[in-house]
Amino acid sequence: MKVPDKKILNDVEVRSLISNNDYTSATDYLFNSQINSWELMKKNYAALKNIQTKSFWFEGFKLKVQFNPERIKSTSAEVDENSVKSRECFLCIENLPEEQKAILIGNDFVMLCNPYPIFPQHFTFSSLNHQPQMILESFSEFLEMSKLLSPRYTLVYNGPACGASAPDHLHFQAGTKNFIPIEDDIQQLKNDFGKIVQEDEFITTSYIDDGLRKLIFIESTEQEEIEKSFRTIYKAYERHPGEKFEPMMNLVCSYDEEFGWSVIIFLRSKHRPECFYKNDFDRILISPAAIDLGGVVVTPREEDFKRVDEELLQKIFREVSLDRQTFSVLTKEVKNEFR
Ligand SMILES: [Zn+2]
Repeated sequence: MKVPDKKILNDVEVRSLISNNDYTSATDYLFNSQINSWELMKKNYAALKNIQTKSFWFEGFKLKVQFNPERIKSTSAEVDENSVKSRECFLCIENLPEEQKAILIGNDFVMLCNPYPIFPQHFTFSSLNHQPQMILESFSEFLEMSKLLSPRYTLVYNGPACGASAPDHLHFQAGTKNFIPIEDDIQQLKNDFGKIVQEDEFITTSYIDDGLRKLIFIESTEQEEIEKSFRTIYKAYERHPGEKFEPMMNLVCSYDEEFGWSVIIFLRSKHRPECFYKNDFDRILISPAAIDLGGVVVTPREEDFKRVDEELLQKIFREVSLDRQTFSVLTKEVKNEFR
């Protein structure tokens, strides 16, 4: 697809950063340029600085709750087939707001600032082509991009049926590294609750049930090894009944020069908890995706922010995560495959 020139930020400085493969600085450059020239973004990032949060400590990990009114559109987005078909795609480059600029990354992606942030710096990496959200075919690009963004940013993927607000348009998100608590907690979680299903000199894969979430943690410096491991897990997961389009998952991924990639895969049983659909007083607008499950739970309404407590978080997380029985079967199956 031909990108309209006026949408691309392409001054001398950006060109020089990109030719040096310095995407971290290019990302930062895009952010600073947009926050100075785009009123909506300036306003929403200023508001984010004064936002209310509260924290809960569970055994070995932390969850934060963020009261973020600007996220209401994303949290309550209608993502069923009909709603998606009847709206204009907001990630296609020709539909972006006038003020929004992009930087090309990889062969088929542009990076964009997210004007409705959760992270101190929040980005969307959107495919140049209008094609469905799908991880298996785009996983290599996902890993490559997370490497390009290290050491300052973490990359996130939400499945089409469990958190992506544009299930019809392939995209990732990126944000400030270590802002999501699980990035700090993951080694502890692995020690306390992990079952290692694959381990050799190149790769370690663990299954973790921390009582609230069911996740798989892959660590390796070898891209090819991670891709093989991910495909094996995906194929095994796909054999279990669930979403027809893609087995439900959310990913959080970062890269470290010494230790390589850390890929966290949250396994899901449903998109939204029951309380999301209740009426009036009983309704709680929490729609968990990768960032929430990673430990920054977004509540766009103040009444929900106030009501959220440890018990409610526990209930919601358990409800939307894969059930214990299936998780345990899957762990065994994958362990056998890796043998
Ligand atoms: Zn599109």
